[in-house]
Amino acid sequence: MAEKENAFRDKPINLDEKGSRKWVYAKKPKGKWYTRRTIFSWFVLAFFVAVPFIKINGNPFILMDIANRKFILFGVIFWAQDTFILALLMLSFVLFIILFTVTFGRIWCGWACPQTIFLEMVFRKIEYLIEGDYRKRLDLDNSPWTPGKIFKKTTKHSIFILISIAMTNTFLMWFIGSERWLEMVSEPVGENLSGFIIMLFVSAFFYWVYSYFREQICTMVCPYGRMQGVLLDSKSIVVTYDYQRGEPRGMKNEGDCINCKRCVSACPTGIDIRDGTQLECINCTACIDECNSVMKMVEQKPNLIRFDSMHNIKTGTKTVWNTRNRAYSVVLLILFSFFVYTLLTRPVIETTILRTPGLLYQENADNTISNVYNMKIVNKTHDEMELEMRLVSHKGEIKLAGNKIVVKDQDYFESTFILYIPKKELESDKTKVKFGIFKGDKLLETYTTSFVGP
Ligand code: SF4
Ligand code: SF4
Repeated sequence: MAEKENAFRDKPINLDEKGSRKWVYAKKPKGKWYTRRTIFSWFVLAFFVAVPFIKINGNPFILMDIANRKFILFGVIFWAQDTFILALLMLSFVLFIILFTVTFGRIWCGWACPQTIFLEMVFRKIEYLIEGDYRKRLDLDNSPWTPGKIFKKTTKHSIFILISIAMTNTFLMWFIGSERWLEMVSEPVGENLSGFIIMLFVSAFFYWVYSYFREQICTMVCPYGRMQGVLLDSKSIVVTYDYQRGEPRGMKNEGDCINCKRCVSACPTGIDIRDGTQLECINCTACIDECNSVMKMVEQKPNLIRFDSMHNIKTGTKTVWNTRNRAYSVVLLILFSFFVYTLLTRPVIETTILRTPGLLYQENADNTISNVYNMKIVNKTHDEMELEMRLVSHKGEIKLAGNKIVVKDQDYFESTFILYIPKKELESDKTKVKFGIFKGDKLLETYTTSFVGP
């Protein structure tokens, strides 16, 4: 009996007995939760499109400039040298996701994940508009190819392709900035051929995901979805069916569930939430709305399906906090505080000085030895800085290409210089030398590297 009850766990819900794809024709959701989700999705979509154009102190709001190893988050620049601070931020973020999932289940998936937002709130809405609700779409797909069907399918897929291209371009702006994107699209294609091919590939991928692969990203591919089994427990708040109230189901039984299966027909991943919490449930709330409309019709209280925990349903209590999420909250608070402290106390500049690869020392006629160095100074402040580099450990002379070190705000300065040290000053064939980076008379940073000699 138990085996039969759990038979739905034997195979993915969207595969048939032979292992072929079973297309999910989900009923268009309608109700309080869908309206809330739609409004929320407008903000998420507006954020996604607006981010590359938002500036703070002249810097992009968010920019993931992988090519220059520069990341800007909320107007604050993180350079490659800030990897530790970024790692702390990433750790805090991962812990936040864990805490959020332990407490509120997969709410992220249904409400804020770009995959769901684009699939449910953009692509599927266009589909509803052109092909109609689930039954009409099913009939259309099973009907012969008439001019009407060809027109509908061509219109739908043309719009899908255009949106996929627009999405790819917007994503690109998150990585290269809106100005560079504008420059690139104004240039002839030949000048950015490899970039153009990648863009085509990514656009084709998005089109394939949203027109064909769809909910399988959530049910089969997404690693976050796979983690639910270890993150959720009976106290996590998820979209759940109140079996205490609903069972025994059926029109003639005393439970409130009339077994109409409308919750199943509205589910975009094709599952029956009455079987319990499942990996495929993205907490989209479509089944809550659908069941609430049924409850209204049969004059029963709403929320037979609702956001709640198995523990609360079993015991009739209402609680969100438990030992597990309290412990995660404390760890998150400590980690995030450490991140903020590290960010606020990070040095104003970051210097790297390395001997130019492949070059040895040179003996000069004036009894000095010279080495060539590459230097990079990152300015992490919002002010332009005029700096000076001095050798503080030995007597010697620095000959810098260009002489002056002027670093623009939130930018970096790169150059090459030659360091001359009198022979008698050198202790061995590899002497440790120390540079000081000064702003006026104020020492901002020191950097120690090696100087090779005979
Ligand atoms: S929509 Fe509500 S009443 Fe209908 S089957 Fe689902 S849970 Fe039962
Ligand atoms: S079970 Fe309900 S909340 Fe979960 S994916 Fe299906 S419709 Fe959405």
